[in-house]
Amino acid sequence: MGKVTGFMEIDRQVGKYQPASDRIRHFREFTIPMSDAEVTKQAARCMDCGIPFCHGPTGCPVHNQIPDWNDLVYNNKWEEAIRNLHSTNNFPEFTGRVCPAPCEEACTLNLEDAPVAIKTVEQAIADKAYELGYIVPQPATVKTGKKVAIIGSGPAGMAAAQQLARAGHEVHVYERETKAGGLLRYGIPDFKMEKNFIDRRVEQMTGEGVTFHYGVNVGVDKPTEELMAEHDAVIYCGGSETPRPAGIPGVELHGVYDAMPYLVQQNRRVGRENIDSTGWPAEPILAGAKHVVVVGGGDTASDCVGTAFRQGAVKVTQLDIRPMPPEKEDKLAVWPFWATKMRTSSSQAEGANREFQVATLEFVGEDGVLTGVRCCQVDERRKPIAGTDFIIKADLAFIAIGFSGPMTTGVLSELEGKLELNTDRRGSTNVVANEQDYKTSIDKLYVAGDVRRGQSLVVWAIREGRQVARAVDEALMGASVLPR
Ligand SMILES: Cc1cc2nc3c(=O)[nH]c(=O)nc-3n(C[C@H](O)[C@H](O)[C@H](O)COP(=O)(O)OP(=O)(O)OC[C@H]3O[C@@H](n4cnc5c(N)ncnc54)[C@H](O)[C@@H]3O)c2cc1C
Ligand code: SF4
Repeated sequence: MGKVTGFMEIDRQVGKYQPASDRIRHFREFTIPMSDAEVTKQAARCMDCGIPFCHGPTGCPVHNQIPDWNDLVYNNKWEEAIRNLHSTNNFPEFTGRVCPAPCEEACTLNLEDAPVAIKTVEQAIADKAYELGYIVPQPATVKTGKKVAIIGSGPAGMAAAQQLARAGHEVHVYERETKAGGLLRYGIPDFKMEKNFIDRRVEQMTGEGVTFHYGVNVGVDKPTEELMAEHDAVIYCGGSETPRPAGIPGVELHGVYDAMPYLVQQNRRVGRENIDSTGWPAEPILAGAKHVVVVGGGDTASDCVGTAFRQGAVKVTQLDIRPMPPEKEDKLAVWPFWATKMRTSSSQAEGANREFQVATLEFVGEDGVLTGVRCCQVDERRKPIAGTDFIIKADLAFIAIGFSGPMTTGVLSELEGKLELNTDRRGSTNVVANEQDYKTSIDKLYVAGDVRRGQSLVVWAIREGRQVARAVDEALMGASVLPR
């Protein structure tokens, strides 16, 4: 344990943000890094609990050994800290930036409202390890002679590829897009995570023997069965990117878009890529000098808000059908579970006008062009309340109400009827496989990440990538030393 009395003496601190007026002028990350000394102090707050809820069932999905590396950071043992962190998480610089941190919610100190700054310490360990040159390729010393193909290079595909290459297999990653990263690169904006972090990992993995094949849409450009014939196992990590249909009248108006084309386009713009590549509309979608309405209350909606502000929107309104949550949760009733409480993302804090308990009835327009969004108040059962209709002026509207499953063209359309699918409680259609062997209904074909569990989190994708790697290694070799 770090400092025995640390939790009593030291207040929680996390990295400060640039002021909103400054950060909306660019797309880069805006958290001001904390000094090593301050990170060390934060790690000292950890109590090394007998039962560390932070990595228990409601805490960290990859079971990061949080008290151990808090202690190592407190003692300035950065190299050991990154070794420990890497033993459970291939990409802590990703999760240190974008994870909602269920570990902090579950931390025992959260009962006092000031959990250990776990995510901040995690990011600092990864960033420091890069700075000190501790993150280098770790190629396998013994090759197995087995070949594995992975479809999709999001966090699930990347984690699976790294684990399998380190176990000695020849790994080929097939990616539809021009670069690796999946939604980490093309969904999540740079202001949440800059993309050079993905490039560095791709470089490391290439040094470990992973081959990336870009611009190959499996099922369209290359049949899945051909891939299966060429490899000993194939893992499908294709994500869950089909937008949930909104069913709102007026979606055909010019100015109404799903969130994804908008976010993908801006990420391509920032990455100096063609905005019209693969699948999304080529026309530029820009919020400069516009009144913007975002329908939806989750991460994707929030990312649209932050992107619109950076493009120079005049006003951004976000519509959430759920009631406004309480400012604070009843800790004793909900801890160590994820609490429903008022959360304000950094993007919302940049000046979004948030409306709660509001249903979107219709997009209205003139001559085929959006001019407003007709809304109404709803009751607790989300039923419209008569006489509460109102119109919000809008030149641009984004629909961000979730995802209904993987892209249907490609692997799914090609294997239709052979690949077992199911529909989860959120209405998302996913590929069926359990969390032990990750096998689909087709021999040699495995599945992991959002394509199996529905749209989720980066940390869950990393967990599934690691677990499917272990399952495949075991199936190919009869035993595996890879951790689950
Ligand atoms: C806008 C947005 C914001 C988000 N913000 C956060 C956040 O802040 N924190 C967080 O933890 N999570 C966030 N998420 C969720 C997170 O990004 C995903 O849960 C995670 O990326 C899923 O990883 P994955 O590897 O399963 O799939 P993906 O990241 O979706 O990757 C799938 C990859 O497969 C490729 N692919 C698909 N089909 C084929 C094919 N047939 N052939 C070749 N390649 C194919 C795709 O091009 C893609 O690169 C966000 C999601 C979105 C949409
Ligand atoms: S629950 Fe919090 S205080 Fe306890 S070990 Fe985990 S991080 Fe440390």
